[in-house]
Amino acid sequence: MSSFRALLVEKTTSGFNRQLVEREVDELPEGDVLIDVRYSSLNYKDALSATGNPGVTRNFPHTPGIDAAGVVLESAVGEFATGDEVLVTGFDLGMNTCGGFGQRVRVPAGWIVPLPAGLTLRESMVLGTAGLTAALCVDKLESVGMNIDSGPVLVTGATGGVGSVAVKLLAQLGYEVAAVTGKADQHEFLKRLGARRILTREEAREGAEKPLLKETWGGGIDTVGGEILFNTVKGLRYGCSLAACGLVDSPQIPANVLPFILRNVNLLGVDSVELPLARKIEIWEKLAGAWKLEDLSELAEPLSLDDLDGAIDRILEGRMVGRGVVDLST
Ligand code: NDP
Repeated sequence: MSSFRALLVEKTTSGFNRQLVEREVDELPEGDVLIDVRYSSLNYKDALSATGNPGVTRNFPHTPGIDAAGVVLESAVGEFATGDEVLVTGFDLGMNTCGGFGQRVRVPAGWIVPLPAGLTLRESMVLGTAGLTAALCVDKLESVGMNIDSGPVLVTGATGGVGSVAVKLLAQLGYEVAAVTGKADQHEFLKRLGARRILTREEAREGAEKPLLKETWGGGIDTVGGEILFNTVKGLRYGCSLAACGLVDSPQIPANVLPFILRNVNLLGVDSVELPLARKIEIWEKLAGAWKLEDLSELAEPLSLDDLDGAIDRILEGRMVGRGVVDLST
């Protein structure tokens, strides 16, 4: 079929309008591989793209979707053949290249991860960019010495996409997980994922005026930025580390140097977008093997293209729980 269904975001005089349309394969950019997208997922960044955030998407009309998993339809390169199951996360997909909220994408071969044995296409999108990022955070923290004897690990934005995968992965690896959430009605969900302790956002912000806090955390994964990020750094135990990957609260950090020079702690950056493909493949292999999450479905909220409009509003307002998995078959 040369036409396919897609979410299209258009710039109008009054803002950005999104609707479901039929698009043509000929409208897709040049690229090595045409993919029949079976599943995508909803990430915070997709909502920024869908509402015209110029840091994410500059060219409209546009189809967002930074994640896509599907089957190769046409390939101009030897590495991929018709029928191969593949996934794409990050690089320019869904930013200024038509993304996974359409039933077809065409991308360079250098963006494509062969679907690892051990994951179905759908499971790969329950994880998606959020899962890859959570795993990258854990991998980086362990590479600088975090282990289950380091102490409890704090995850912020815990019911969100990155946060919920991080809680579940850390708990499955044997870590004692503490979770920060603003959702009073989701404590049971977080406990099911493996969180042993739950803090409100207000508790996580306590002591923001102090230069240091009691040494508590053996590690941290922060998806929100701002005061909560730096309070976690101030509460790290001697020599421990925090991985920072998000900014839903704020891109600013109210920082001071004392935690670094008195407690030898590390603030680590994590990017899943421009990460070299070989590294992405390594982490996907881990997520399909030693780090495969049991019962991934407990993280997933099934969505269709028709559900995306409302789900985009919910994720922008911080109201999503877990991972929105988009089934493109309807
Ligand atoms: P989600 O919206 O799914 O999760 C974010 C969660 O943060 C929310 O569910 C909520 O959880 C919490 N939250 C929302 N607003 C606030 C606030 N004002 N203060 C404190 N907490 C808040 O987003 P994603 O998981 O998709 O992404 C999270 C962040 O990570 C985003 O900034 C995104 O851009 C970034 N990201 C970065 C990547 C990278 O490569 N570096 C890759 C993927 C994501 P709760 O209610 O439980 O507190």
